[in-house]
Amino acid sequence: MRIGQALQQARALGVARLDAQGLLTHLLGRPREWLLAHDEEVLTTPQAAELHRLLARRAAGVPLAYLVGEREFHGLMLQVTPAVLVPRPETEVLVEWALERLAEMPCADVVDLGTGSGAIAMALKQAGPAAAIAASDRCARALAVARGNALTHGLDIEFAQGDWWAPWKGRRFDLAVANPPYVAGDDPHLSALVHEPRGALTPEGDGLAALRCIIDGAPEHLRPGAWVLLEHGHDQAEAVRTRLEQRGFTSARTRPDLAGLPRCTGAAWSGAK
Ligand code: GLN
Repeated sequence: MRIGQALQQARALGVARLDAQGLLTHLLGRPREWLLAHDEEVLTTPQAAELHRLLARRAAGVPLAYLVGEREFHGLMLQVTPAVLVPRPETEVLVEWALERLAEMPCADVVDLGTGSGAIAMALKQAGPAAAIAASDRCARALAVARGNALTHGLDIEFAQGDWWAPWKGRRFDLAVANPPYVAGDDPHLSALVHEPRGALTPEGDGLAALRCIIDGAPEHLRPGAWVLLEHGHDQAEAVRTRLEQRGFTSARTRPDLAGLPRCTGAAWSGAK
């Protein structure tokens, strides 16, 4: 089978051209530019069989990132497995905001709660190497992925296992960031995300339980002047801001994601409580 035919086969299966090229790139170990110029190149029989298997899984909805085992986030190529959520571009909004905080306080103590693949923690350490970055996740398999990524990129990050603030008893930070599960338990779009860990997508119920837990525990773990920055659902900004204000945070504000949806809310801790 030639590359051109492989791409036709992908189309027949309903796999997007870019995804099919991504699978071929992975399979052949060649960049996309090479593929484009080698339509006539012939795949070996085992390569063609493996491609067919991958295309069928992609057609069944398995994220491309799991099939190729990696996904780029904020310029870093990260290993991903089905134990972690696939890093999403909207989360770069949270990273950019956190980097603005780090620009004002380069040596900040930062914590990333529910780090998953380690995407946020690593993007921050890479762009703000003077900061001390801590990251936690309740899931041992996710932490193993994050640790592997940190090792690959030579980024010094302190990892710990546990739910939200649990691993950080007695510790205080200058910046806390999180992209917790926030999809409501009955949200119909969860059915399109069945290949990702459900616990990383939804805390069930109205989708706010993890956000509430992080906000409620934050004052005990923040220094005066610290900020907390949280990713949330497009319809949760008001609930998150209200909770932050009730808990004594000030300057609460929300930023949109790349699609213009309110996606990230942050607030400052004055230390008054
Ligand atoms: N933004 C993701 C989605 O809607 C959800 C990520 C999350 O729950 N943290 O697919």
